[in-house]
Amino acid sequence: MTEVQSFSTSAEAAGAQGAILGGGTLLMRQVNEAPQTVPRLIRITDPALREIRPEGDGHLIGAGVAMAQVIAHPDLGALAPVARSIGGPALRNMASIGGNLFAPHPYGDFTVALLALEAQVLWSDGQREEIERFLSVRDTARGVVTGIWVPRIAPGALRYRKVSRTRPKGVSVMSIAAYLPNGGSAPRIAFGAMGPTPLRAKAAESALQGRGLTEESVTAAGAVCLQGLSPADDALASAWYRSEVAPVHLRRCLMGET
Ligand SMILES: Cc1cc2nc3c(=O)[nH]c(=O)nc-3n(C[C@H](O)[C@H](O)[C@H](O)COP(=O)(O)OP(=O)(O)OC[C@H]3O[C@@H](n4cnc5c(N)ncnc54)[C@H](O)[C@@H]3O)c2cc1C
Repeated sequence: MTEVQSFSTSAEAAGAQGAILGGGTLLMRQVNEAPQTVPRLIRITDPALREIRPEGDGHLIGAGVAMAQVIAHPDLGALAPVARSIGGPALRNMASIGGNLFAPHPYGDFTVALLALEAQVLWSDGQREEIERFLSVRDTARGVVTGIWVPRIAPGALRYRKVSRTRPKGVSVMSIAAYLPNGGSAPRIAFGAMGPTPLRAKAAESALQGRGLTEESVTAAGAVCLQGLSPADDALASAWYRSEVAPVHLRRCLMGET
């Protein structure tokens, strides 16, 4: 049987042993299928986890914020297409940003955009961690994530593409986010479902660095985009297929094609 323990603050919950409950879209499935693997759920009622507020030159999004809240927020329009690509309407009412950070392959579409944005992950002890470093360890037993800081995104600077067998709400064959701040002079590119966690495509970024989005630079980026990625075979696609189509979808993402 699974026990549920409730806490009113993240700091109190951080010391507790158990699985932190976000929206529960993955965790409750696990509880239903194999309750012995989740002996205790940690539920945090702190309303701050559901807040979105401006901070510095960006926004702090509480870890418990659901995809539907992102879609509805007037300042997060650039992230709305990303949130909208996740599951169906009922799922988006529950699926949280914090839970998405820990969602295993092939999930984690929102985290792909966060990685391209070089977001910061906030922990309950006040520590801030670069998302790339967070993903390189991604320890579900480390404690409570309280929020994610994202920079203010200029119109058109974030491009996102999700490739799935069933549109509009299938699970990702791959997802790609390209962040092109300052007119695209220093692009940042992240792929989802192309490794155990979302990964940066740094060779592709270097191929575009300072060159803008021209036919040549985009072709050069596509030619090297698999460096550092490690696609796997799964029920949705083979590693071979993912590798073959990645340059095509990177091009479409960068060029803003639908
Ligand atoms: C039918 C279906 C379709 C889906 N489609 C997609 C999709 O298209 N794209 C996609 O990316 N995902 C998809 N998912 C996966 C999932 O719904 C999302 O990734 C969602 O964002 C997970 O968030 P959650 O709040 O439900 O996580 P939960 O299930 O509550 O938790 C998931 C993990 O995160 C940990 N966790 C949650 N919050 C915190 C926190 N604050 N601090 C520390 N650890 C925490 C939990 O302990 C657990 O290990 C789908 C799932 C289902 C069932």
